[in-house]
Amino acid sequence: MKVLVINCGSSSLKYQLINMENEDSLAQGLVERIGIEGSILTQKVPGKDKYIIEQPMKDHTDAIKLVLGALIDETHGVIKSMEEISAVGHRVVHGGEKYATSVVINDDVMASLEECVKLAPLHNPANIIGINACKNLMPSTPMVAVFDTAFHQTMPQEAYMYALPYELYTKHGIRKYGFHGTSHRFVSAQCAEMMGKNIEDLKIITCHLGNGASLSAVKNGKSVETSMGFTPLEGIAMGTRCGNIDPAIVTFLMKEENMSADDVNNLMNKQSGVLGLSGVSSDFRDIENAVKEGNERAKLSLDVYNYKVRQMIGAYAAAMGGVDAVVFTAGLGENAPETRKDICAGLEFLGIKIDAEKNNVRGKAVDVSAADATVKVFVIPTNEELVIARDTQELTSK
Ligand code: AMP
Repeated sequence: MKVLVINCGSSSLKYQLINMENEDSLAQGLVERIGIEGSILTQKVPGKDKYIIEQPMKDHTDAIKLVLGALIDETHGVIKSMEEISAVGHRVVHGGEKYATSVVINDDVMASLEECVKLAPLHNPANIIGINACKNLMPSTPMVAVFDTAFHQTMPQEAYMYALPYELYTKHGIRKYGFHGTSHRFVSAQCAEMMGKNIEDLKIITCHLGNGASLSAVKNGKSVETSMGFTPLEGIAMGTRCGNIDPAIVTFLMKEENMSADDVNNLMNKQSGVLGLSGVSSDFRDIENAVKEGNERAKLSLDVYNYKVRQMIGAYAAAMGGVDAVVFTAGLGENAPETRKDICAGLEFLGIKIDAEKNNVRGKAVDVSAADATVKVFVIPTNEELVIARDTQELTSK
């Protein structure tokens, strides 16, 4: 069985075709600038040259048409016809309170996704457009929605409620939802496997540190706390997002800087985080280089970032009444030994201690904890596409 995984953004689309017999990735690609000048598709197939198509794509239907064309292309493709694609798995950002697991897409599901647009106005519309485009082109192929929020639906009420008037929860659904759920779910399961233990007996803190970043406390296999909230803005500092700040800063800026709600939203989501603090970049590689050149603000941005992650790890150990393992994943978590070292420095009191030599690793699943550490520390590459493909296979072959 071959599953096509689609992750639609407002002007971009990532895809991967996975052979479920051995879980190998047959092809992966990225379409950028959909609906804007300079549309481009880039496809990578193991053992073949990169395939690039530059041609106008007015919408996501055009983009998916080209994706299917690239996959069945005689020279650059990997399948003979579209019929070889047994099912499509869609990454959907927000499933609200309705979806605690993945689901086969039907008309009711589509209606629920529309209802969730209010909660994720930047993301869900693109996901819906992507699903509709696929339905148009592959009307008889079953499709599954896999939600970023689903894994965190197990959080207890005391963790997901904000101390705001209760009516805002019932009227607008204002509560913590959490994101990156497929990633936290995947790496926590991998962690239990690497420890040779049942996940139901473990307390794991997963740190998904990419451009967007979140932590999750996974107790007995269930997410009981996570750092992103009502939106992905809450939590630790990120590439361009501020994470937790005093909420009174919002109204202060609106008054003192004469900013609109959209201005403040843009400032907190796009101009803050390590970019805002350093003034250098949102990419940690650029910041690390600036630090080497003696840039003080770049150093400050890393110090703030690492401090907030370290503090959150402590908080999550408290939330679970202990911790057995800490996992680092995503772009930065998988590839930045220095960041992992700095985050863990000072957590020895919890039993967290990294082995410098083992920690000198990038992009591989490795136990990097010191021999005398009582809490395991792992680097585990995340694979959200594989989770989506597995769920899609499971639900569509029922
Ligand atoms: P992601 O969102 O998971 O794709 O992560 C992307 C981010 O990971 C980039 O913006 C970088 O900040 C960070 N990153 C990727 N590779 C490295 C590396 N080798 N060293 C430091 N940071 C990295």
